[in-house]
Amino acid sequence: MDHFLYRDGVLHAEDVPLSEIARAVGTPFYCYSTATLTRHFRLFDEALDGMDHLVCYAMKAASNQAILRTLAGLGAGMDVVSGGEYMRARAAGVPGERIVFSGVGKTRDEMRLALEGGIRQFNVESEPEMRALSEVAVRLGVVVPITVRVNPDVDAKTHAKIATGKSENKFGIPISRARAVYAEAAALPGLEVIGIDVHIGSQLTELEPFRQAYRKVADLTEQLRAEGHDIRRLDLGGGLGIPYTRSNEAPPLPTEYGALIRETLGHLGCEIEIEPGRLVAGNAGILVSEVIYVKEGEGRDFLILDAAMNDLIRPAMYDAHHDIVPVVEPAPGVEQTAYDVVGPVCESGDTFAKGRMMPPLAEGDLVAFRSAGAYGAVMSSEYNTRPLIPEVLVHGRDFAVIRARPTFDEMINRDTIPEWL
Ligand SMILES: *Cc1c(COP(=O)(O)O)cnc(C)c1O
Repeated sequence: MDHFLYRDGVLHAEDVPLSEIARAVGTPFYCYSTATLTRHFRLFDEALDGMDHLVCYAMKAASNQAILRTLAGLGAGMDVVSGGEYMRARAAGVPGERIVFSGVGKTRDEMRLALEGGIRQFNVESEPEMRALSEVAVRLGVVVPITVRVNPDVDAKTHAKIATGKSENKFGIPISRARAVYAEAAALPGLEVIGIDVHIGSQLTELEPFRQAYRKVADLTEQLRAEGHDIRRLDLGGGLGIPYTRSNEAPPLPTEYGALIRETLGHLGCEIEIEPGRLVAGNAGILVSEVIYVKEGEGRDFLILDAAMNDLIRPAMYDAHHDIVPVVEPAPGVEQTAYDVVGPVCESGDTFAKGRMMPPLAEGDLVAFRSAGAYGAVMSSEYNTRPLIPEVLVHGRDFAVIRARPTFDEMINRDTIPEWL
């Protein structure tokens, strides 16, 4: 459920008509709903009620500091995957002891940054990383709590580009080698082994892969404890999928996911961490765009928008579907037409949808891409020297620009001309 609904014939974000925001900031823009972010975070938090737990929002999904601060205010920790994300979380006011550092290729500089600034734990993904982290910690005179990310070799049954838990994926260490790796970790002076980490992929629409992975984590917990490791924290990753269409999909609910965690791991008495990203932010954000032209093609009509693949790359990158709806509510029973919905960028891949049935639209009409809150703005670029588009956060009747559109001068002046030119 989200808070983007038609009211008085206009799509609203909470209590604000999107047409009003469009007039104020221009199109295209991203718009997030505080009430939806809050609701989704609380669903996870409540799903783990009664278990010692921390929900660490995977901030790579949508990392604007206003979003981070909203979630941190509700008690969220953060899962970061780079030094930049660590600094951004800290700038948003998140204390180091609520930040978990994940990622397959952390550099020594990134390790130093987080160790100096304070960190809850590192999720280590390889033996060389483990040794490097120990060295950096020893040099700084600290001991760093770690989990090791294990790759449980389960099929997450999701898009190949976002599956991470099969043995052919680059993530984690094979679970079959876990005992040897833990033995080495325990012997390294800069590390304190406290738990196990697993994350098998994103946009999972079934619970079964989680069940398989978490059972393996439960077995491993018992084996490692028997070998003398004090396993007391389990980081279970993110990955729960969201409905991208109103109609057919119904991914498992956070409550069902929470029940699965209790069932597979509850008896171990560990502190539980989860790292949802998409489910917190995905349906809490939309992308609003204006129709520039409607062009008649050969056997098809093109809806040419002012948003493009550089603003929302998911359709080009993952063949992702986004519902696209008019901001002005169509009259009931209006006859729909098929459009190829495209952006202005010079790539055929700059196509959001083909043969999409929509009410008839005209130049100047506004449309909204639903479910664009996660992996939307964060993956945008300035390709074609198109400015990064504004981000707006709505809170009841209020809205604020939380990232402004840069001017052409700001963009162009980032280049510097060498003196020999
Ligand atoms: C991307 C990622 C997540 C979040 O995944 P979602 O599908 O957005 O919930 C969590 N943990 C790690 C380690 C990740 O890389």
